[in-house]
Formats: sequence, structure tokens, C-alpha cells
Amino acid sequence: LKIAIPTEIMEGEDRVSATPETVSSMIEEGAEVLVQAGAGEGSFFSDQKYQAAGAEILTDVEKLFAAADLILKVKEPQFNQELDKHEVDLMHAGQYLITFIHPASPGNHQMVKKLAEKGIISLTLDSIPRISKAQAMDTLSSMSTVAGYKGVLMAADILPKFMPMITTGVGMIKPANALVLGTGVAGLQAAATAKRLGAVVHAADIRPEASEQAQSVGSKPLDLEIPEAEAVGEGGYAKELSEKLLEKERGIIAEQIEKFDFLILSALIPGKVAPILITEAMVKKMEPGSVIVDIAIDQGGNCEITEPGKIVKKHGVTIIGTKNIPGMLPKSSTWMFSKNIYKFISHVIEAGKIEIESDDEILSSTLVTDGEKIVHQGALEAMN
Ligand code: NAD
Repeated sequence: LKIAIPTEIMEGEDRVSATPETVSSMIEEGAEVLVQAGAGEGSFFSDQKYQAAGAEILTDVEKLFAAADLILKVKEPQFNQELDKHEVDLMHAGQYLITFIHPASPGNHQMVKKLAEKGIISLTLDSIPRISKAQAMDTLSSMSTVAGYKGVLMAADILPKFMPMITTGVGMIKPANALVLGTGVAGLQAAATAKRLGAVVHAADIRPEASEQAQSVGSKPLDLEIPEAEAVGEGGYAKELSEKLLEKERGIIAEQIEKFDFLILSALIPGKVAPILITEAMVKKMEPGSVIVDIAIDQGGNCEITEPGKIVKKHGVTIIGTKNIPGMLPKSSTWMFSKNIYKFISHVIEAGKIEIESDDEILSSTLVTDGEKIVHQGALEAMN
């Protein structure tokens, strides 16, 4: 089985899908691994290290794609400006692709159709179910951990004041006040990071379990007064709130918003557009110099005036809509991502062959194109 590790071509993407350590594990299990020259540079892994781990280094990306049975990537296939060709056009029928595809996202529908036209068997990492059996493969949780941590550092960098309490010769400076909305994986890490930096952290989630976890890392609860039956659905996941309940939630946040120096927004319902929790009117109420980090931007954002991919100042408040925050911490992101994807392929590969069993929950939820057919439920619903 030949596994290819290409260089990521999306602008600013420094992650890579395998490290010398995971390459060596794949080789031990009988695979041949081909790595594109320079693929690990952004994450500080040299070609020499991959070579020492047993990989073959190829400079020609077209040859790399042509030779592989399985391609492992971080980002969905993109248009390669240098070659003037789409990455999907470098692939051939019967080949396997494992990466983040985000197949339900309208911007990716054309690419997913292209994968099917080409007869590629593609699996998307963003649909790995959050079940204990798949925990070690959960790339989304790993990346959310990075986003929560780095999101707080970005806020700290822009805030015009100290994060911790500081005693000076002329008196005491109070610590910054933070509010984290949505304390799932990203929000919980954000709350813990802000606490470690010395901020006074308030946190709110509609799921009581998530609120308790936020308190366990030192944050004070902000009660959103949403009945549990309206907030928690099947499997313990958050439910989409009615517009009336969202309005009530916004009202509760608005009453206190002036006191927060920065907001970390990470509220999300799996597979849905992010709920709007912060309106423009609420931003206007914040102190000038405050900061909002809208981590949920990939699903539209929790603040109605965040601009995707941009850092803007509106009504005196800096609003961060940076996408791909994990890419800003490539070494740790790659370390987690490569281990997650390795665990995933270990689940897929049996005795040197790729086995896709339809009764396997992990595989059936992640399969996007099965040769010429698009089979991903979320993608099919979004395309119709
Ligand atoms: P998660 O599902 O673990 O957490 C989301 C939390 O939001 C849940 O605890 C849920 O109960 C809560 N929630 C839902 N509706 C709410 C509401 N109305 N009010 C308060 N809380 C509510 O998700 P996650 O893995 O932590 O991801 C959170 C966000 O971070 C996602 O939008 C994800 O795409 C984003 N993310 C962004 C980047 C980036 O680079 N920008 C990277 C990784 C993750």
C-alpha cells in the first residue's frame, strides 16, 4: 500500500498530515510512504527526518499523486496555481483520500462532485463521530483545543491592558474580565487558558454538563436560564434553540456585556450554522478597546458583525474572525493531527488493504464519495 503525504497548498497552511514518527509507524505496518519534498517544513520536520523514518521523498507532486493508493491531507483538495490544475485532477479512479473535506459546505460542493466524477473513495475527518471508540481519531477536537488556546492568546495580544492582576507602585491593576460562550472543546480550553493567564473568567453554555466543566477549570457561571429539555438532545449534544430562547439568551448576555474586556465565542450545534449570540447593538455597548474572538466563524460566527477571515475594528471593539487558527500553531496541531489520522487509517487498513465496512459507524459517517457515488448524508442534504 502506497501512502502519499503532499505539501499543503492552501495559503498560510503550515500543517502536514504525517510526522516522521507516524511515517515510521505506517512503514512498520507494511506501507510504503511517499512524502513531497518540503511537506513538513512549515511544521519544522525536514525531508532528512522523513527519509530517516523510511519515507521516499518526491519533488514532483504529479508523480506523487499518481503513485499513491491512499492520499493523506490536512485541507480539502484545492486548485494548485503553480500547476494550473486542481488537486482532484491529479488523482485517479479507485484512489483513496482522507482529509478534512467539509462536504456540506456550499463552497465545496463542486469539488465533491469532481471527486465523484473521478471515482475517488474519499473520507472526511470532520465527520468522525464523537464516540469513545473514535476519540483518538477526533481531529476536530484536537483542532478545537488549539483554537481555544490560541484564540485567548490573540485576545491577550490585542487587549490594551494586562490580563492578570498586577500590583504596581501606584496601585493595583484589576485583572481583565473574560466571557466564554459555548464551553465545548474549544471554549473549555479557552476558559482554562484565560484563567491561567490571570483573567477573571465567566463562562456560559446551554448544556449543564459543559457549564460544570467550565467551572471545574476555574470560571464563574453565567446562567443562560435555558431549560435543559430545550437545550440537550440525543446523545447529550446541544439542540438548536428556538428564536425566542435565543432572544432570551441574548438579553441575559446584553445585561452584563459592558463588564467584559474580551469575549471568546465558540457556541455551536453540530452540523448547523452557529447561533447569533452577540448583535451589533451589544457590541456598541462594550467598552472601546475590548476584543471579540469569534472562533465559530467557520460556521458563520456567533457575532453578527464578524468578518470571515479578517480582524476588524467596529464601534471601538476589535473583532477577530481569523479562520484556520490551528494553522497558527503548526507544530502542536500537526503533532495531534498526524496521530489522529494515523489512528484513523489503522482503523481502515486491515492486513495491508483498505477495508470500508458499511456497518462501521466511523466509516459510514465519514465516507463522502464511494467511487462515483456521493454518499455523505450532510453533503447530499446540503446539495438538494
Ligand atoms: P463543541 O460542539 O464541542 O462545542 C460547542 C458548544 O456550544 C457546546 O458545548 C454547545 O452546548 C454550546 N452551545 C450551543 N448553542 C449554544 C448557545 N446558544 N449558547 C451557548 N452555548 C451553546 O464544538 P467545538 O469543537 O468546541 O467547536 C466550537 C467552534 O470552534 C466551532 O465553530 C468550530 O468550528 C470552531 N473552531 C474554529 C477553528 C478556527 O480556526 N477558527 C478551529 C477549530 C474549531
